[in-house]
Amino acid sequence: MTNEEIPNLTAFDDASLDEAFGSLEQQARKAAALLDGDTAVEAFRLEWLGRRQGRLNEVSGRWLKAAPPDAKKALGVRFNALKATVERLQDQAAGSGPTDAALAAEAIDITLPGTRRLTGAAHPITKTMNEITQVFTALGYSVGVGPEVETDFYNFECMNFPPGHPARDTQDTLVIANQERRPLRDRLLLRTHTSPVQMRTMVAQPPPVRIVIPGKVHRNDAADATHSPIFHQVEGLCVDTNITFSDLKGTLDHAMKALFGSAVKTRFFPSFFPFTEPSADVQISCIFCGGKGCRKCKQSGWIELLGCGMVDPVVFAFAAEKQPAYDPKKVSGFAFGMGVERIAMMKYGISEIGSLFAGDMRFLGQFV
Ligand SMILES: [Zn+2]
Repeated sequence: MTNEEIPNLTAFDDASLDEAFGSLEQQARKAAALLDGDTAVEAFRLEWLGRRQGRLNEVSGRWLKAAPPDAKKALGVRFNALKATVERLQDQAAGSGPTDAALAAEAIDITLPGTRRLTGAAHPITKTMNEITQVFTALGYSVGVGPEVETDFYNFECMNFPPGHPARDTQDTLVIANQERRPLRDRLLLRTHTSPVQMRTMVAQPPPVRIVIPGKVHRNDAADATHSPIFHQVEGLCVDTNITFSDLKGTLDHAMKALFGSAVKTRFFPSFFPFTEPSADVQISCIFCGGKGCRKCKQSGWIELLGCGMVDPVVFAFAAEKQPAYDPKKVSGFAFGMGVERIAMMKYGISEIGSLFAGDMRFLGQFV
């Protein structure tokens, strides 16, 4: 920079002010004429307009302070004119802009196609799980979730699978390592069903309960066309006074019609689950052949779809340890559970359960 020191101003008549400001303007014009490139323009801005050490700041501080009151106005007018000039000089220098070569290097071809963003969509498992859940929320059920890493107590013991009970063998369990020192009921495992959330719900609130529980469960099953070590369930629980088996039948018949169409029929067969008594398997009339018999239903006209039953008094007794209102003599209820994958596979005609988990977009994209 060729700028000179800002001199002290000693005379404040118009002629002296014109001379002093004129000299500054000349310096600014000279400096601006030499500017080349963004960095130089920025240096010019700092030198002249900088808030702290800029020359104009110094002028306004020193000259204005020294000016007698009757000269302040004349000085202010000239100062503002100088500032406007300097700002214009800066704009002009900046406006000269980058070189053509720099512009060409940065150029964007606006005729190229844009980056196409994929639209997200719910996984068929999620979609099916939401559909099932919504059937029950429409009946006034609330939705419950719980931990996937569960204690032996919640997963088995309180669901009436006592230690050593053979029914435990039907749910090949993945256990968390290094738990041997703990009492059996505190040992951690990956939940084998969503039933623990039934107990967690009852322990947390007195009856009545109407809850539907969607969630992921884990079993040490070898993967094949219809088995996967990870799968999903939707369970339900209804507890109140005077809940009967006909409430259970009516609820599930309605739910199946809501899910698969009003023409679907249901039938119930005796079955066994530790946590319900009596227990039943529910079959629906084949949705593929309407009950005439086809390959999908093995010519029987019926497809087995879910398990259910009246809550075993033993389960209520466990709940009553924390919530005495679950006195097995006073309340009754039903529970049911279904596999989401099986229903999704039926609804969408999927033959391999593994394809639901392979993450292949070509497969999943079909269900959007
Ligand atoms: Zn059929």
